[in-house]
Amino acid sequence: MKGCPIGIDIPGFIRHLREGNIQEAYERIREANPLPSVCGRICSAPCEAACILTEEHAPIGIRALERYAADLGRSRPAAKIAGRQGKKIAVIGSGPAGLAAAWELARQGFAVTIFESLDRAGGVLRYGIPDFRIPRKVIDGEINEILALGVELRTNAFIGQTMTVSELLEDGYSAVLMATGAGVPKFMELAGANLGGVYYGEEFLMRLNLMKATIFSRQAPTFRVGEKIVVIGSGNTALDCARAGVRFGPVPSRQGRCRQVALVFRRTEEDMGVRADERQYAKEEGVHFEPLVRPIEILSNENGFVAGLKCVRMDYADSEGKGVWELAPVPGSEFTIEADTVIIAIGHHPNNVVARGVERLTINADGTLWADGQTLMTSVPGIFACGNIVTDAGPVVDAIASGKRAGKSIIKYLG
Ligand SMILES: Cc1cc2nc3c(=O)[nH]c(=O)nc-3n(C[C@H](O)[C@H](O)[C@H](O)COP(=O)(O)OP(=O)(O)OC[C@H]3O[C@@H](n4cnc5c(N)ncnc54)[C@H](O)[C@@H]3O)c2cc1C
Repeated sequence: MKGCPIGIDIPGFIRHLREGNIQEAYERIREANPLPSVCGRICSAPCEAACILTEEHAPIGIRALERYAADLGRSRPAAKIAGRQGKKIAVIGSGPAGLAAAWELARQGFAVTIFESLDRAGGVLRYGIPDFRIPRKVIDGEINEILALGVELRTNAFIGQTMTVSELLEDGYSAVLMATGAGVPKFMELAGANLGGVYYGEEFLMRLNLMKATIFSRQAPTFRVGEKIVVIGSGNTALDCARAGVRFGPVPSRQGRCRQVALVFRRTEEDMGVRADERQYAKEEGVHFEPLVRPIEILSNENGFVAGLKCVRMDYADSEGKGVWELAPVPGSEFTIEADTVIIAIGHHPNNVVARGVERLTINADGTLWADGQTLMTSVPGIFACGNIVTDAGPVVDAIASGKRAGKSIIKYLG
């Protein structure tokens, strides 16, 4: 339990499962976690790292048990509690952080409205992570339970553009929570990055999800992806791009024409920011891993489209002879990977459109929003922030934890 940022009663729910009480197990988890089916699929599971059996052999499969309990135990629709406190709160962004905050506030009887710039709620869960990792009906189910508490959802509401935070405050919202995530890709200083056939990870996944291109269909996809894809990066976004790339487009012909996907990254496999089982799935699906490799240049064909990726191998070296071993290029190890599509997935930043027109809001040098470590209140009283807009990156369970914390903190602030 010490490893779980949202404090799920892990022994308690497992005991219920052992006794065959699946619904009780689900309800025990739901006391702490508004998104158990999502976490049961994609959580980085710090609880398993903290499990005392990890040292002896392998941890209890807590994440898989959570998924089982959540998928099978959900049955009763949640009770509707609406606006008893007479104060309304605006939550901007409907990713895991905003949803968790709305859940926390609505359970305490506050009237919550979620403003979401896109047409559906879910944030990265819906428009980033492909549906082979989280089926859309799982996301819909969990969001509907949160909305059933009386939470209002306003989609196509791009705060900072169609409406400002000041207008929300004038409209009678007693507090505003910014939970707008970090959706802007980190650009890469790499020759050839502006060639045709180069995508950024978030853009690629969003196109896939909006156009349902992860559904392995007989129809040609509506945007161009070649036969030889190289993905640069080693985090969840990179791995999702690679696994989606393998599945992309029409069913392969009888001759077995299938996409080749290579994943290129500077670190070792063990240092990738993803779970070992996700790496395993990617390999089983045919993704070719190229660890300890640094891209040097994206090569062009005569039409200005990608023709390959020039790389150099990396290794640990004590180049200054001071006993400090660091990653360095291996002299003479340059090589080229043939490619017609390159996807760059090396991280992302917050998009601070939401902050437009809000005076005295402190934005950190890296683009994240400053918020007090304890209360999650920004430099402007009454405006709070949580999730990736504050942390830049991090696992979904941390975003949920910070959403819950922000909700509790707003309740305290409103007295
Ligand atoms: C491809 C990918 C795969 C991942 N895989 C994993 C994984 O396997 N395990 C894991 O633990 N974590 C994973 N993560 C990380 C996890 O998804 C994030 O930690 C989490 O989504 C952050 O939640 P959030 O609510 O802060 O932001 P988001 O999920 O980004 O949600 C922000 C929401 O705010 C909306 N918004 C933005 N600006 C505005 C505005 N001005 N007005 C109104 N609405 C706005 C956006 O449309 C979005 O819906 C992954 C991330 C990515 C990108």
